[in-house]
Amino acid sequence: MKTLTCDVCKHTIQQPVANRNYFHLAHRDLCEYCKDQLDSVLKPVIRTKQPFDYDWYNRLMQDFIEKAIIKGGFESKK
Ligand SMILES: [Zn+2]
Repeated sequence: MKTLTCDVCKHTIQQPVANRNYFHLAHRDLCEYCKDQLDSVLKPVIRTKQPFDYDWYNRLMQDFIEKAIIKGGFESKK
């Protein structure tokens, strides 16, 4: 595989290397930029969850990714 398309921003990733320039999360492929965006929108939500629950985290992450695919990007509040 020489190129990969980010499921969120539709950016083409050249020479994809897992966990380096693309991330396979919740059955979706995300580019590095979208992974960073995902982290920034997830972090404030994760902080509110005590104790941390991995199944909850996976569902949350999947939900954020699916919404971002529909909208074409993550909404980060800065
Ligand atoms: Zn992307």
